Amino acid sequence: MRKVDLPWWRTYWRIIARVKNPKCHLYKRYGGLGIENFLTADDLKMLWFRDKAYLLDKASIDRKDSRGNYTIENCRFIEHKINAGRPHKELTHCKRNHPYSGDNLKVKSYAGTPKRTCRECE
Ligand SMILES: [Zn+2]
Repeated sequence: MRKVDLPWWRTYWRIIARVKNPKCHLYKRYGGLGIENFLTADDLKMLWFRDKAYLLDKASIDRKDSRGNYTIENCRFIEHKINAGRPHKELTHCKRNHPYSGDNLKVKSYAGTPKRTCRECE
């Protein structure tokens, strides 16, 4: 395996792009906000094993303080899904405020994905 294919190296280059490369689509949320990287690839390797990132489905580097820099103290590997935020809360009412419950709730399937609709508004 080439060094650059190791997972903590991929994380390292992703961080570098976010904080250093204005062409990166995430730059404005990182480098553009003054976030700096103080981690080396070796630090990330240490965190990878400390946090057992190899047990995760899709490991993602998380800053505990999202306004803080990439430092050992502020970073940890967590499951990507958690890092990307909780799924959108299911709506309890339709746009016109009819409840999605009881007889008014109708579940349709769009391309295999269930979608809740309101009977009253149909
Ligand atoms: Zn409705």
